[in-house]
Amino acid sequence: MINALPEQGVPADQVLAELRELRTADLPTHGGRLFAYVYDPAVDGLDELARAAYAISAQVNGLDPTAFPSLLAMENALVGAAARLLGGDAETVGSVTSGGTESLILAVKAARDAHPTIANPRLVVPSTAHAAFAKAAHYLRVELDVVPVKGLRADPEAMAAAVGPDTVLIAASAPSYAHGVVDPIPQLAAIAAERGVRFHVDACFGGWVLPYLRRFGADLPAFDLSVPGVTSISVDLHKYAYAPKGVSVLLHRTETLRLPQYFAYADWPGYTMINPVISSTRSGGPIAAAVATLRSIGDAGYQELALKTREAVRILADAVSATDGVRLYAPAETSVVCLSSDGVDLFVLADELAARGWHTQPQMAYADLPPTIHLTVTAAVRSTAADFAPDLTAAVAAAKARGPIELPPLPPLTPEMITPALIADLAEGLGLGGGDFSQMAAVNTILNAAPPALREALLTGFLSLLQRPA
Ligand SMILES: *Cc1c(COP(=O)(O)O)cnc(C)c1O
Repeated sequence: MINALPEQGVPADQVLAELRELRTADLPTHGGRLFAYVYDPAVDGLDELARAAYAISAQVNGLDPTAFPSLLAMENALVGAAARLLGGDAETVGSVTSGGTESLILAVKAARDAHPTIANPRLVVPSTAHAAFAKAAHYLRVELDVVPVKGLRADPEAMAAAVGPDTVLIAASAPSYAHGVVDPIPQLAAIAAERGVRFHVDACFGGWVLPYLRRFGADLPAFDLSVPGVTSISVDLHKYAYAPKGVSVLLHRTETLRLPQYFAYADWPGYTMINPVISSTRSGGPIAAAVATLRSIGDAGYQELALKTREAVRILADAVSATDGVRLYAPAETSVVCLSSDGVDLFVLADELAARGWHTQPQMAYADLPPTIHLTVTAAVRSTAADFAPDLTAAVAAAKARGPIELPPLPPLTPEMITPALIADLAEGLGLGGGDFSQMAAVNTILNAAPPALREALLTGFLSLLQRPA
C-alpha cells in the first residue's frame, strides 16, 4: 500500500522504485503474449522516444490553443495524417480526443445537436457495435436501436428498417472489436445517404491497420471517408498507431458536420469556454507522444508492422484450426483471432492458456452467440506466434483433463438483490479476496450464466469493492 500524501516528501529515487515495484504485479505489456489492453509494435527505442516526447509537452494545457500553439500544431498534424490515411479530402476536419469512447460520444453528440428539433433522438447500431455507443447513448439521452447482425456483420436490410424520422445517426464498425470483422460499410453508407442521416464508421480499433492490410491486397471492403455517405470516422492512435494511451482522432467529412460537436459557454464571469472535446483542461503529453510515434514509425514502418501483424494472425489462426477442441469463431480477416470451444470448457481453457503465459480475453455468451476467446494481435506477436500452437494443444488437453466448471447451486439472483455485503461474500467465496486473478474460470462461468443486467450489477459491485481509499 502506498501513502500518496506522506507527512514529509519522499526522495525521487524512492518514489520511482516504489512505482516500479507496483508495476511488477501487472500483466506484461511487452513480449507478445497479452492479447488485449495493450498494443505493442516491438520497435526498439519507441517507448523511450514516446516518453521523452510526452515529457516535453506534459505541462501544456489543451484548454486554449492560442496560449499553446504547439498543441494546435500537433493536433492539426495528427488530424491531417488520419485524414490522409482514411480517405479524407480538402474538406475533412477533425479533433484529437482522449480515446475511442470519447470519439464515439462526440460523434453521437454532434449528430444529436445537429437536430435540436428532434425531441427523442435515436442511434441505430448493429449488435456487434462497441459498448461505447451504449455509453454515449446513455450519457447523451439518445435512444439506442440495436439491430441483430447476420453472420457477425451488420445486416443492411435490418439496419435500414430500423431507421426512422428520429434517427440522427447510424453507425457500424471497421472492424468490430469482439470478432474483428468489417461491416458492409458501402451498403450501410448508401442507406444513410439515401435517408439523409449521418453515418459514423467506428474504426477505433482497426483504423490504423486496415488501410495497410488493404494496400497489400486483403479482401476487405472500402470503409473510410472515400465511401460516399460516410460522414464521420474514428481511429484510436493508442491502438494500431502504437501511441501511448490517451489519443484518438474523430474525423468529419465537413466543417459543418463538426460544428455541433463543440461546446461553447460565455454566460458566466470567467473565461469563455470553447471545447471541441469533453475535457477542458488536458495535457499535451499524450498528443506529443503520438506525434513522435507516428513520425518515428512513418508510413513505411506501419506497412511493415501491418505485415507482421497479418503473419502473426495467420499463424495463430492456423494453430486454432489445427487443434481439436477449439475452432475459429470468426474469419480472421483483420487483426483479431476469435475462437470458440468444442467439448472443452472455454473459461478453463483461458485459465490454462494464462498459466502458460498467454493472456487472452474471454467474451461471455450474448444472445445466440456462444462464449468466445478474443485475441487482439499486434506486431509484437510475430516473434512469439510460433510458440502458441504447442501451448494451445497443451492447454486444451489440460482443460479436458480438468473438465468443465461445476458450480455449487447458487441462489437465484436479480440485479436488485446485489448489495456490497453480498458482493464481498461472493468474492471471498470465489477466492478473489487476495488480489490473485489467475483462476477466473469459476467467476467467468457465473458471469456467463448471468443475464446482462445481472452481470453488470455483479461486476459493478466487484469493482466498487476493489476501489477503496488506501
Ligand atoms: C477500443 C474501442 C473503442 C473504445 O475505445 P477506448 O479507447 O477504449 O475508449 C470503441 N470502438 C472500438 C471498435 C474499439 O475497439
